Amino acid sequence: MPHSDVIIIGGGAIGLSSAYYINRMGYEVTVIDNNTPDQYDSCSWGSSGMIVPSHIVPLAAPGVIKQGLKWLLDPESPFSIEFKPTFEMISWLWKFRKAANSKHVKHGADLLRQLSMHSRSLYLELDETMDFGLETNGILMLCNREDTLKEELAVSAMARDIGMTAEDLNPSEVNKLETGMLTDIAGGVHYPMDCHVNPVSYLFEIKKVLLESNVKIIHETKVEGLSIENGKVISVTTGKDTWTGKNFVLSAGSFSAKLVNKIKLKIPLMAGKGYSVTMESPPQKPAIPAILVEARIASTPMGHTWRFGGTMTVTQGSRLINQRKLNAMLRNVQNYYPEYDLSWTGSLNPWVGLRPLSADGLPYIGAFQEYPNLFAATGHAMLGVSLAPLTGYLISQIIAGKSIDYDMTMLSPDRF
Ligand SMILES: Cc1cc2nc3c(=O)[nH]c(=O)nc-3n(C[C@H](O)[C@H](O)[C@H](O)COP(=O)(O)OP(=O)(O)OC[C@H]3O[C@@H](n4cnc5c(N)ncnc54)[C@H](O)[C@@H]3O)c2cc1C
Repeated sequence: MPHSDVIIIGGGAIGLSSAYYINRMGYEVTVIDNNTPDQYDSCSWGSSGMIVPSHIVPLAAPGVIKQGLKWLLDPESPFSIEFKPTFEMISWLWKFRKAANSKHVKHGADLLRQLSMHSRSLYLELDETMDFGLETNGILMLCNREDTLKEELAVSAMARDIGMTAEDLNPSEVNKLETGMLTDIAGGVHYPMDCHVNPVSYLFEIKKVLLESNVKIIHETKVEGLSIENGKVISVTTGKDTWTGKNFVLSAGSFSAKLVNKIKLKIPLMAGKGYSVTMESPPQKPAIPAILVEARIASTPMGHTWRFGGTMTVTQGSRLINQRKLNAMLRNVQNYYPEYDLSWTGSLNPWVGLRPLSADGLPYIGAFQEYPNLFAATGHAMLGVSLAPLTGYLISQIIAGKSIDYDMTMLSPDRF
């Protein structure tokens, strides 16, 4: 029977980063992933690659429900729910609603800031020996409307209050900073501490280092179940083999909950479907990544490419593309960058990804109380790339029995 000290289920940004840090602590590590080696179907592959200490407000926040309900009525809005009256979905929605309060935001914001800043510093460290297109020119929040600009300025004030750098900008100040393309906006905020990577390069570079360090990465192999003995996970079964191990890391992205349901563990997790479209060498592209606030679009220049990412459809796993929302997303880009022409993206195939959405906007990181050798590393929603190195680092510290400086109770997979 094949064996490994640590078995990692899922090889997206979170699984591979976990493998990296756990291996560095001296453990023998195997990653089992059901994706093809190019990782195309992982959520990490086509993401916008942003590392965003500025995103301090968790997804579950006051105002989100009201805005979400409004958007549900608009077929071209960036948000929707593919509602199914299942226990998992109703219970997730209920927990999300409960978490969307200002007390949770306050605690969550402080923790997210610390985690993101730490993850950023780990990216800078990794960048010394790997090449994944890290750029540190910050991120712009661009607003079309005065009311949303006012809300963004309130968030930037909150960010400054907790020690982050955030520069409020009028339209001409934005256009002075954004040298690649003209913007047509009411104003914006620049977060200079934010940065971005090419997520595909990150996956490939970290995989290369793992293989050089004798970490086994097994692709196109689905973990079907986990076996338990004496209160511990002892093995995972794939279609081909049964792998025994001492420790197991659950980083199967939006599929994580279904897998551990089989051993009667419940983590509230839905999939947040999003699309991205990538232009190779477009006629023009911006110099600085941006969130186009009202349209909820992430615009990322990555090397010679330019990627748009957006839409959020809460689903239980469907990858079907809603063409109307996709078209609206592409059209909306013109409202911010008037020089962008729809023909640049017209013939391009969209990519679909399923974000792992926890019910309170904070990831699940840590051991399950019931099975202390099974570690959750999932639920990162829109922050999985941002927090990948830090998640791997934390999991490696927990496995090695080291102390951690953060309040891990807010991240516990047993918190609901
Ligand atoms: C459009 C879009 C833009 C985004 N932009 C950003 C961004 O700018 N910044 C940011 O931080 N985040 C961003 N995100 C979110 C980010 O992509 C996710 O949070 C992150 O990729 C999650 O990583 P993961 O490793 O947990 O999951 P995944 O990348 O999905 O990896 C999970 C892996 O596990 C495998 N797997 C699943 N089930 C099994 C099984 N049973 N057995 C074996 N393998 C299994 C899957 O095939 C997959 O390869 C974006 C997401 C989308 C959709």
